[in-house]
Amino acid sequence: MPAFDLRTVILMSSVMPGLMALVMFSLGRGFPANIRGVGHWASGALIVSLSAILLALRGGIGDWLSIVVANVGLILGTGLWLIGSQLFYGLHPSRRFVALLLVIGVIAMSWMTWVHPSVAGRTLCMSAILTATFGMNSLTMLRFGKGSNTAVYVGSMQLVQTVATAARGISMFVPAWASAGLFAPDFIQKIYLITSALMSLTVTVGLLFVAMDRLRNQLERQSFMDPLTGLLNRRAFLSAHQQEREKTMRTGGLLSLLLIDLDHFKQVNDTYGHATGDRILIDFAKRVADLLPAPGHVARWGGEEFAVLLPRVLPDEARDHAERIRQRVAQKDDATLPGYTCSIGVACMAASDATIEQLARDADEALYNAKRGGRNCVQLSDHVILI
Ligand code: GH3
Ligand code: MG
Ligand code: MG
Repeated sequence: MPAFDLRTVILMSSVMPGLMALVMFSLGRGFPANIRGVGHWASGALIVSLSAILLALRGGIGDWLSIVVANVGLILGTGLWLIGSQLFYGLHPSRRFVALLLVIGVIAMSWMTWVHPSVAGRTLCMSAILTATFGMNSLTMLRFGKGSNTAVYVGSMQLVQTVATAARGISMFVPAWASAGLFAPDFIQKIYLITSALMSLTVTVGLLFVAMDRLRNQLERQSFMDPLTGLLNRRAFLSAHQQEREKTMRTGGLLSLLLIDLDHFKQVNDTYGHATGDRILIDFAKRVADLLPAPGHVARWGGEEFAVLLPRVLPDEARDHAERIRQRVAQKDDATLPGYTCSIGVACMAASDATIEQLARDADEALYNAKRGGRNCVQLSDHVILI
């Protein structure tokens, strides 16, 4: 087997995560504030990279740098990865735990370098600490990143790193395997170094993808969501209508549209202020969404107008649903909000006729009649024939 120089392997593989960290820093700066932890991941990667370079220079630079600073740097870097992952998933960050590991690291590395030099002791101590930081980071990613393939991938890679690190620690108890130092050409040492070399780059690139994934999901959600109420926006509603119409046309059913408008809302704003008006819109959205049946869709149509699409229901079922919404909205159960009401126009037609324009025209006419009829009521479109 051709021999390869472990020092070169470690040096080369240390530079790459550092470069990736710089990419992560610059991308992370443009991220929205609610995506947290990316800066910690980037700082962690940079520190792991610099520490690994110092480790690779063992013998060529002072021990205080290549042993103490390098190992404490590894603890700090991997600790920052852990804190980054916890922040990313909205968990309480283990800052104190990482600080404790750092203190233990500084004392243990200094003691076993100058007071009572012991390669095996240092290896054991570092293996234990890194098994903890890698292991906790891995479990955080695997547990809370379940929905994202990239997070599961990074978590699994960290698990491999955890196992390799733990194996290195355990090998200290096996006299035949006990390492004689970082660059000793024994089996466990090689496995550990190669795993670390591959994993630090994989994990750094992986974390970058995890962050990009979150950003993409967030932008995607924003593109079909009304920011105030969290309901669908009109664009998303149109696409939901299109899909439901095609589905319903295949089976020959009906489509119903409810257009809902809050009553005298201008007056509500004028009396209680715009902020209270906004809170009413949020409250209203929640009530309607809570009542929504499974195949239905609800959207903010614009301003204080909302739309509900009910596929494959009969006209009287659509009207009953509208009546349930009206009654629920008229109930006053939040003492901090003024009471308010809504008027609803209901259109219902065969899916083959139910273009969004036709549905909206009929529902709007019915809504106009509901307003003329005194508000806080439901009107069915004149074109609907009750069966
Ligand atoms: P009607 O019963 O006839 O519907 O009367 P109205 O006052 O509700 O109708 P109008 O169309 O005259 O006024 C709608 C008001 O809705 C005016 C506008 O300021 C308010 N509005 C629209 N969008 C928002 C919003 O996002 N927040 C708040 N607070 N008010 C909004
Ligand atoms: Mg209106
Ligand atoms: Mg109104």
